[in-house]
Amino acid sequence: MSEALRDQFGRSIEYLRISITDRCNFRCLYCMPVEGLAWLPKTEILSYEEIASVVRQLAPLGLRRLRITGGEPTIRPAIERLIAMLRDVPQVEDIALSTNGVRLPELAQLLRDAGLDRVNISADSLRPERITAIARRNLGFDPITAAQAAEAAGIAPIKLNVVVMRGINDDEITDFARLTLNHPWHVRFIELMPVGGMRELTAEHIVPSDEVLQRASMLGALEPGGGPPRGNGPAAYYHFAGAPGSIGVITPMTHTYCGSCNRVRLTANGRLRTCLFGDHEVDLRTPLRADEPLESYFRRALAEKPKEHALLQLRIGGLQALSQVGG
Ligand code: SAM
Ligand code: SF4
Repeated sequence: MSEALRDQFGRSIEYLRISITDRCNFRCLYCMPVEGLAWLPKTEILSYEEIASVVRQLAPLGLRRLRITGGEPTIRPAIERLIAMLRDVPQVEDIALSTNGVRLPELAQLLRDAGLDRVNISADSLRPERITAIARRNLGFDPITAAQAAEAAGIAPIKLNVVVMRGINDDEITDFARLTLNHPWHVRFIELMPVGGMRELTAEHIVPSDEVLQRASMLGALEPGGGPPRGNGPAAYYHFAGAPGSIGVITPMTHTYCGSCNRVRLTANGRLRTCLFGDHEVDLRTPLRADEPLESYFRRALAEKPKEHALLQLRIGGLQALSQVGG
């Protein structure tokens, strides 16, 4: 068998984020302009069979965990078919989904039955009018109903991702934190990242995670730990004594976590992107459609994975929105 995939800094790559569409039924303030983006033509998007082929070829090289994302992955038809195909790859230990949660009440059981393990739900407010204002769409989304549907279907752990924006939703930090006292949910506060496509938001809207933790601790003392099992991503977790859930902070702006980065991304049009920021991409679609083995392309991509991202220096390359690369 081939040697495991390692990048030039010795980091092994066992986690792949797969974007299955660049489209979305929301237009979140921090992610997309209200008129949408220039969507990829359907012919450029990898089919489910092509995505499964990439995963089957990466799995013997060490890939173990997958996350399906977008755009909004649940608007692509029959996503459960993809989940079932990925579940059939023997080395794959864990399949997660990142979603805005709008379709979870109707889909959760179907996704679980197809083999979905865990879910991250984006939830920037618990107030209906505010959800509509941030998402710039009224689709009747209720984060609590979505999380409860996932829980009832047996999906675990459940994480709620809150992008904190000063003056927009930062007054709900304690409301979100309070959820962890009564539910086994992991509420993660994400620092707003200044990507190119957001017009209404500036660096002034960033709330540093240290401040978020300080404000959440108005409810009680926060102790380190209590995060989800295998929560070895970029979040640092805390919990209130005795609480079933936890609070996480993700700090792309104030602390970097590049040194432990174990992830690569597959874009909807079949590019392997080795860092969220920066222009390190290798086209896999062309060799895939020519029936060429992908291993040498993976190795080339990994050899170029940068040591750390350039966001702190605000050199964001051509990235217009996280929806284009799967967040
Ligand atoms: N549509 C799905 C969702 O919203 O969860 C999956 C894709 S979305 C691009 C993935 C994640 O990126 C979401 O948790 C979203 O909150 C986050 N995100 C998008 N733009 C961001 C920004 N400018 N700053 C911080 N987080 C951002
Ligand atoms: Fe859509 Fe997710 Fe971007 Fe919001 S964050 S616009 S739900 S892709």
